[in-house]
Amino acid sequence: MHPFDHTPDQRRQLLLDTLQQLESFYAATAAERVTPILEPEEVRRQVRSIDFSEPAAAGEAIGRVIRGLRTYAVHTPHPKYFGLFNPRPVFAGIVADLITAVFNPQMAAWSHAPFANEAENYVVQEMGRQFGYAQDSTDGVFATGGAEANLTAVLCALNHHFPDFAASGLIGMHRQPLIYCSAEAHHSVDKAARSVGLGLQSVRHIPVGEDLRMDIGLLQQALQQDRQAGHRPFLLVGTAGTTGTGAIDELPELRRLADEYGLWLHADAAYGGAAVLHPGLKPYLRGIETADSITFDAHKWMSLPMAASLFLTRHPAILSRTFSIVTDYMPQEAREMPVTDPFTHSIQWSRRFTGLKLYLALSIYGWEGYKEVIGQQTRIGNYLKEQLWLNDWQVMNDTPFPVACFRDRQHHDEAFTQRLLQRVLQAGQSWISRYHVHGQPCLRACITNYATTKKEIDELIAELNRHREE
Ligand SMILES: *Cc1c(COP(=O)(O)O)cnc(C)c1O
Repeated sequence: MHPFDHTPDQRRQLLLDTLQQLESFYAATAAERVTPILEPEEVRRQVRSIDFSEPAAAGEAIGRVIRGLRTYAVHTPHPKYFGLFNPRPVFAGIVADLITAVFNPQMAAWSHAPFANEAENYVVQEMGRQFGYAQDSTDGVFATGGAEANLTAVLCALNHHFPDFAASGLIGMHRQPLIYCSAEAHHSVDKAARSVGLGLQSVRHIPVGEDLRMDIGLLQQALQQDRQAGHRPFLLVGTAGTTGTGAIDELPELRRLADEYGLWLHADAAYGGAAVLHPGLKPYLRGIETADSITFDAHKWMSLPMAASLFLTRHPAILSRTFSIVTDYMPQEAREMPVTDPFTHSIQWSRRFTGLKLYLALSIYGWEGYKEVIGQQTRIGNYLKEQLWLNDWQVMNDTPFPVACFRDRQHHDEAFTQRLLQRVLQAGQSWISRYHVHGQPCLRACITNYATTKKEIDELIAELNRHREE
C-alpha cells in the first residue's frame, strides 16, 4: 500500500474521526459564535505551526485544520448568519463533494466521464426548463461561480455580435462595443469587461429609479446617444435579484430594448433565479425565458456548497462558437457520437464534477423540497421586515425576496450605522452587513439559511434594539 493511500484500517479510523468532528460542528452550528475574533498574528501562527519538512501524523493534521476553521471563520452555515447569500450547505451537497473527490471524474472530455457529463447535461436541461427555455434549444455549462458565468455571457455576446471576434479579437473592431447594466448590478460585470480587454469604460451603469431597478427611460437615452456617437451597443445585463437589495430589473422592458437595438440580453439571476422554483415568486421573474443567457448560482438560494454555478443559454451553437478549440491530444472516442466535449463549451479545461451537487440534491429533495424551502425562507424574510417596522426600523428596499436593508428611524448617519454594525459583529451572535440604498447608509440582513426560524429573527431584533440604545 502506498503511503499516500494509507492502510484500510487507518482510512476507516481517519474518516470516522473526521466525520465525528465535522458532525459535532454541523449538528450544533447554532451553538457557535457566528463571527470569529479577527487576530491575524494568531491565525498565521497556527497555520504555520506545521513545518512541511517535518510533517505531522494524519489525524493530528486533520484535527488542526478543523479546529482552525471552527475558530477562525464567519460561520456561514449558522442560522444567524444573515449574510451575502452564502447558505448552510444541504447534506446532499456535502456528500456529493466527497463522492466527486474520490472518483475525480475529468469533465473536460465526455468520453472520460460519461455518467458525470450526462448528469450535468440533464441538470442543465431541467434548470433551463424551469426558467422557461425550450427543451431543444437549451444549452449550458457549470461554472466556478457567478463571476465566471457572467464572463461567459460577455464572451458569448461578443462572439454572437462580432463573428470575427474569435479570430481577430478587439483589435479587429472598428466601433466601441458597449455593455449596459444597472448601477446596482454585480461588479463581476465590470470585472468581465476588464478581463476580456474591453475595459471599464465600455460599461454603462444606468442609474436606478426609486424602486432600485434600472431606469428604462435613461437606458433608452443612453442607447440612443451611444448609437448616434457611432458606438456599438451589444450587451444588456438585467439583474434578477440584485446583491445589495434584491431588486429585479424589468426583464420584458429590457427584452423590448434589446430587440430594438440589437443587443444580447443576459439575465444575472445568480441569487434570484431560484425564485422560478416557487409558483408564488416565479411571476416576479417574468421575461427571464426571453433572455439570451442566464447566470444562476445553485450555491446561493439552492443551498449547495460552493461552487455550483450555471451558465444557461437558448442559443445552442454559441458556446461552441465561443470556446471550441481543435486539439490533437484530447480523447477522440466521442467524435462520432452525438455528444459534446465540455472543454469546447467552457473557459475551463480540466473541470471538477460541480454538477453532482445539484443532481444529487434534486434527486433526494426534488423540486417539491426546494419549493417548500424557498417559500419558508420568503415567509421568514417577510416576518423579519414586519418586525423591523414594528420596532421602529425603516426598511429601505422593496423586494419579494428575503433581503432587508434598514435603518433606525431617527439616527441614520454614517457613523451611527457603522457603530451599530460593529457592535453586532463584535458581540458575535449574528452576522449582518452594511449597504447604501440611494446613497443612505443601511444595515442589511438576508435569510440565507433554510434552518433560520422566527426565533432567530426575534433574537436579531432584540439585539438590534439593544445596541441602538447603547
Ligand atoms: C453573487 C453574485 C454574483 C457573483 O457570483 P459568485 O458565485 O460569487 O462568483 C454575480 N451576480 C449577482 C447578482 C450575485 O448576487
